[in-house]
Amino acid sequence: MPSPDQDPSVAANLAAVRRRIEKAARAAGRAADDITLIAVSKQQPEVRIEQALAAGQRVFGENRVQEAKARWSERRADLADLRLHLIGPLQTNKAEDAVALFDVIQTLDRLKLAEALARAMDRQGRRPRLMVQVNTGEEPQKAGLAPAEVDGFLDAVRGRLGLDIAGLMAIPPQDEEPALHFALLAKIARRNGLAELSMGMSGDYETAVRFGATAVRVGTSVFGAR
Ligand SMILES: *Cc1c(COP(=O)(O)O)cnc(C)c1O
Repeated sequence: MPSPDQDPSVAANLAAVRRRIEKAARAAGRAADDITLIAVSKQQPEVRIEQALAAGQRVFGENRVQEAKARWSERRADLADLRLHLIGPLQTNKAEDAVALFDVIQTLDRLKLAEALARAMDRQGRRPRLMVQVNTGEEPQKAGLAPAEVDGFLDAVRGRLGLDIAGLMAIPPQDEEPALHFALLAKIARRNGLAELSMGMSGDYETAVRFGATAVRVGTSVFGAR
């Protein structure tokens, strides 16, 4: 395997993605600083993670709690500014681990999980930011609340459980125009007073920026194929 300093591709990819985010932001009359680039490191070899860290990247996304724990729990101690986002489905019995490790949990999508997270946060005295995942395409195989369920769910978790919800997250269907889904997510966020929108992946992050994304989750375009 090449050592980090022999293979500059991740650093170059990060710079290229950042430039494209800046350009898309400018075209939309937005400040690039308002958009967080989450480097999605799931299933990537360690050497590429090291390259990203060497290039100054500090915000990472993982989709599995156990994999993320193995990769990041020791590194955490040396990287005060590391920010970890959970972007994959979370089982209720992993809520404690998720609260202990992640700074942002983007995939809250049911009451049982909200209750488990609330308990874990009280016990640990740690409060990761929470985002609600919306299944904008209403795909049966995909996690997330149906768009029509979101308002009621937010009322319940904010009211009954006293949880702060920072924003919404979505993964549009692969074979549909993502812009429609980004617009829908933005609309649901607006009517619920939510500021943060996690949307856009390697294939569509510039479109997501146009539609108001405050965080884009980019894996392949940063690290290469998984
Ligand atoms: C894997 C993954 C990404 C990154 O996808 P790329 O197409 O590789 O950029 C983004 N969001 C979620 C939820 C993912 O699981």
